[in-house]
Amino acid sequence: MPAEKVVIIGSGPAGWTAAIYAARANLEPLVFEGALTAANQQQGTTPLGQLFLTTEVENFPSWPYGDTRQYLKTALPADNQPFWVQKDRPQPTHGINGPELMELMRQQARQFGTRIITDDIVRVEFNKHPFILHSLGGQQVEALSVVVATGARANYLGLPSEDRFKNRGVSACAVCDGALPRFRNKPIVVVGGGDSAVEEATYLTKFGSQVYMAHRRDALRASKIMQRRALEHPKIKMKWNTEVEEVLGDDTNGVTGVRLESTTNGSKEEVAASGLFLAIGHTPNTAFLEGQLELNVKGYISWTTPQRTCTSVEGVFAAGDVADDYYRQAVTAAGTGCMAALDAERWLAHHGWI
Ligand code: FAD
Ligand code: NAP
Repeated sequence: MPAEKVVIIGSGPAGWTAAIYAARANLEPLVFEGALTAANQQQGTTPLGQLFLTTEVENFPSWPYGDTRQYLKTALPADNQPFWVQKDRPQPTHGINGPELMELMRQQARQFGTRIITDDIVRVEFNKHPFILHSLGGQQVEALSVVVATGARANYLGLPSEDRFKNRGVSACAVCDGALPRFRNKPIVVVGGGDSAVEEATYLTKFGSQVYMAHRRDALRASKIMQRRALEHPKIKMKWNTEVEEVLGDDTNGVTGVRLESTTNGSKEEVAASGLFLAIGHTPNTAFLEGQLELNVKGYISWTTPQRTCTSVEGVFAAGDVADDYYRQAVTAAGTGCMAALDAERWLAHHGWI
């Protein structure tokens, strides 16, 4: 079997944009979109990336508020209508939501001939060319060029008590778990001070009686518009300068509260809560690259040439959050996905392989 011209690993905005550009350049891209394993579901790295875990995406250009239902029905194939279209649910005017946006990107890549494998790449051999990629399902693929677009996943605090209550009140995804009966009309604690924390807290106000945002400093990191949403929300109460010391609970009820510790004077406070939602940043999905590609101290892929998506291995390009610990936006991920596909195309042409 001849080597693939370009293999794209990852299925967020970066991966699909790279696929659209590569497909339109006749590179016949092959995308490994990730596996639907329990482990991936647990850590939030299922196909369609981080936006699959969220609600409205208000800042991806081209999606103003409107009724997107008719468009989704016509744009997505009849045999692949996601559940929210199939049910023909009444849809109030809103912007595009994360899963819808990701399905549309995937479909756009498919329309230009992208082939998709629903599996993880678990090992790579970048020290030989063509490169060799190994999948979780045992597949082995040769590639002349590779775009790594595997994104990032949510962090946890690392407390033993947090581990004990995962799926019994501890979560890193409000959209996935927030509607569970255990959180209804009960207080909930969200940890973090960034955009994700505000988004999670705001979403959880639909279900909880009160949402506490526990942040280790006295100022939010979130963008101004998001800050206002949290600070002005009647159901959100800030717990400034606090860290979670322990998640409280028992085997019967799961989480029943959290013990917070002041970061300024060490004082402690117990807050009754049915759940603890973590929104404390992300870790890049690069474990499978260790020893094969240069990573920075935080584990992100380093771009080796300014304004290019080149990595430490010629012919391997990186796009999206996996190489970006600074902007981390859907639109920037899509932008660098485009760059990576163009970089791969030019590199293949330079070597006379296309
Ligand atoms: P990701 O979206 O992280 O996707 C990568 C995917 O690749 C993974 O999910 C997985 O399926 C796959 N993958 C991982 N490892 C492998 C492997 N080894 N083999 C095969 N496949 C693999 N940004 C905005 O601009 N606007 C927003 O409103 C917004 N809301 C957000 C809400 C939440 C809750 C979160 C967590 C993030 C939000 N972001 C938002 C940030 C945005 O989601 C990310 O910047 C963007 O998704 C990054 O895209 P990506 O393509 O780099 O990777
Ligand atoms: P983030 O911006 O890195 O914020 C992480 C937050 O968690 C920070 O407030 C940080 O505190 C806190 N934190 C980190 N480690 C901690 C620990 N061990 N204990 C307690 N607190 C800890 O991450 P994010 O909020 O997930 O956002 C990631 C990116 O996605 C950002 O670029 C963001 O703009 C984007 N995003 C955008 C939207 C949107 O536009 N609607 C929504 C969600 C995410 P400090 O502040 O003290 O460091």
